[in-house]
Amino acid sequence: MIFFFGITNGRKDLDFHQQMTCDLCGRMGQYRVFMTYMVLSIFFIPVFKWGRTYYVETSCCGSVYELRPETGRSIEYGENVTIHKEDLYLRQKGSRVREAKASKICYNCGYETSEDFEFCPKCGKSFDN
Ligand SMILES: [Zn+2]
Ligand SMILES: [Zn+2]
Repeated sequence: MIFFFGITNGRKDLDFHQQMTCDLCGRMGQYRVFMTYMVLSIFFIPVFKWGRTYYVETSCCGSVYELRPETGRSIEYGENVTIHKEDLYLRQKGSRVREAKASKICYNCGYETSEDFEFCPKCGKSFDN
């Protein structure tokens, strides 16, 4: 008899949303929770899941936090929980964090930009003053 084993990575979005004000970009957003896991399949039927890791993604800037496992498990089982900042470990800052930062203003000529220039494109003075 021949067995077909397969080990794959899975990802599942959990039905959980929480309004919050983002520490990283300062905007209003939502926490969205998903989890990743490993699956062992026999004859393409998933029989065993392990290695669950829970993550939180912010809707405002797309930053990703790892969520404390106990909190993640409660969410997976549909319990009514609130995510606190102590439950989160930052894994990846979102790509939209930077653009939400306050714009730079040239102290010399008053030129304003949200780009990360080192020198003013208008008068050439350094922004680092
Ligand atoms: Zn944000
Ligand atoms: Zn300037």
